Amino acid sequence: MADMANIKEPSFRDSVNLMFDRAVALMDIPTGLKEKIRVCNSTYTVRFGVRLRGEIRTFTGYRSVHSEHMEPVKGGIRYASAVNQDEVEALAALMTFKCALVETPFGGSKGGLCIEPRDYEEHELELITRRFAYELAKRDLINPSQNVPAPDMGTGEREMAWIADQYARMNTTDINARACVTGKPTHAGGIAGRVEATGRGVQYALREFFRHPEDVAIANLSGKLEGKRIVVQGLGNVGYHAAKFLSEADGAKIVGIIERDGALVNDEGLDVEAVHQWIVQHGCVKGFGDAKYLEDGAKVLETDCDILIPAALEGVINLSNADRIQAPLIIEAANGPLTSGADEVLRKKGTVIIPDLYANAGGVTVSYFEWVKNLSHIRFGRMQRRQEEARHQLVVDELERLDRYLGDAWSMTPQFKEKYLRGADELELVRSGLDDTMRTAYQDMREVWHARDDVDDLRMAAYIVAIKRVAASYRAKGL
Ligand code: NAD
Repeated sequence: MADMANIKEPSFRDSVNLMFDRAVALMDIPTGLKEKIRVCNSTYTVRFGVRLRGEIRTFTGYRSVHSEHMEPVKGGIRYASAVNQDEVEALAALMTFKCALVETPFGGSKGGLCIEPRDYEEHELELITRRFAYELAKRDLINPSQNVPAPDMGTGEREMAWIADQYARMNTTDINARACVTGKPTHAGGIAGRVEATGRGVQYALREFFRHPEDVAIANLSGKLEGKRIVVQGLGNVGYHAAKFLSEADGAKIVGIIERDGALVNDEGLDVEAVHQWIVQHGCVKGFGDAKYLEDGAKVLETDCDILIPAALEGVINLSNADRIQAPLIIEAANGPLTSGADEVLRKKGTVIIPDLYANAGGVTVSYFEWVKNLSHIRFGRMQRRQEEARHQLVVDELERLDRYLGDAWSMTPQFKEKYLRGADELELVRSGLDDTMRTAYQDMREVWHARDDVDDLRMAAYIVAIKRVAASYRAKGL
């Protein structure tokens, strides 16, 4: 992010507002309602003390509610030293539009705690998280029917389990207590496939994009995902899963991985799992064999590649580097990786941008499944699985009879029987629901993208689809 000191760019919140304004200007919605949808309803700031290492340390946290057109409101909790009100409000707004776009029945919210989690021991993080959860829960800013957090940067299953337990201790008779937060481990009320969900959603989004040759051609690309050269920034939860699935299942080549301490590049493709294991052991990418290491990681964003996946943090592609970005296709796995200025530069250049509110919606989609599972108190597939297998057995019995009757003239395809007989478990159902969601939302966006002459890009199309649904919801409430 060189040269930023001399370039004035809007804040993250203003950047989201500008993108919203660009879309809403094309829509026939009363001015008052536009304003109601744009504004952030409330932001709660909390400062609390925790006794650590023999002294009291004060922490600052936020929970912002952007829109309550549907409740509960939903959005992750981020742990990072740079967390601030502007960022939390921008992320909350994105959640409103993301939920509407993928039709999860939630309003938008987000939380954050100013903390560098790597500076603390696990038991210290637990104390801090429980205290933060207590502060939010006592104001109903964590609540199964009003406000349901999830993981984001710097948090994961472990923190969600602490939050769920803290809420349950404060609400001992709430039978739905587990639904107060999503992204929990499966042994604490979570759902199979949530950890991988956002990265898996990025994979499904790209698969759907490549199912439309006309869209692929707009990005000056052709063919399938197989063999495409990809650069990923951030090998955390989202980036790791996306890169792993795209390289292992779709035959794409991860030619660059950018992390905090620098980047790894290898034109032959990097072994994502091996890089991940290296990071787990060493906390950095430097020293990993089988790749060239570059200390100036941000420079690798400008590499000649087919697809760029920023999956770390916001604002990394901005007015200081936008004109040097060569990838013809960018999929925003992170929230807000492009500033509105960079978005404009790249759109003018013809870069196709698959926007964050769609690209990383896999997380909230599977969070929705988890919330429904918690409220229904039963694992998905538990009632149907064996019944489905029994019905399939009837078909297999008939096919086997036919096989015996026809002799050498016909036989079942190898492994058909095993594959067909197996009823879907929770993970398969979750992946199927996620795939369906990502396909449907893409089709909704592309319909607007192609049908309207005044819509030139997918972000504008995504906002139009989402704002229309939020507006309809407010209207139904009488606004
Ligand atoms: P994470 O903390 O698991 O991973 C972030 C990764 O980015 C880490 O590996 C970190 O080392 C790396 N990183 C940090 N600063 C960097 C820099 N300057 N350059 C290169 N790498 C850097 O976080 P995550 O959950 O994967 O979230 C990443 C992004 O995806 C965020 O924008 C988040 O809001 C968004 N997102 C996450 C989820 C989810 O389910 N976790 C859902 C939707 C959107």
